[in-house]
Amino acid sequence: MNADPNCIFCKIVAGQIPSKKVHEDEQVLAFHDIHPWAPVHVLVIPKQHIATLAEVGPEHAALLGHMLGLAPRLMRELGVVDGFRTVINTGRDGGQEVYHLHMHVMGGPRPWARG
Ligand code: 5GP
Ligand code: ZN
Repeated sequence: MNADPNCIFCKIVAGQIPSKKVHEDEQVLAFHDIHPWAPVHVLVIPKQHIATLAEVGPEHAALLGHMLGLAPRLMRELGVVDGFRTVINTGRDGGQEVYHLHMHVMGGPRPWARG
C-alpha cells in the first residue's frame, strides 16, 4: 500500500503510532481524534497515502463513497442518535493540518468544544 514514511496517519495505519480504532477494513481505518471537538469525534482515513482531497480523481470514487457511507454506521455504533457533522479540510485555506486525507465525523449532544 502506498505510504509516506513521514506521515503521521500512515504511521497510525502501520501501527507505529497507537490509536483508538473504531473500524478497520482493507481500504480504510477509523479512529478517535486525539483532540475531540465533540463528544464523539472520529477520523476516517484511507489506508493508502493520499495527501488531500484536492488530489483525488475518478479512480478514487469507490474509496470516497466507502468513507462517506461508513459515517452513519460508525455514529450508530458509537451511540450518536441525533445527527452528526462530516468535514474534510483541504489545503492551507481549508485549514488542513495533517496532509493525509481524512474525514472528520462528529456527533453527540451539544454544546461542543468547537464547530
Ligand atoms: P485537520 O485540521 O488536518 O483536518 O485535522 C487533523 C486532525 O487530526 C485534528 O483534529 C487532530 O486533533 C488530529 N490528530 C493529529 N494528530 C493525531 C494523532 O496522532 N492521533 C489522533 N488520533 N489524531 C490526531
Ligand atoms: Zn499518509
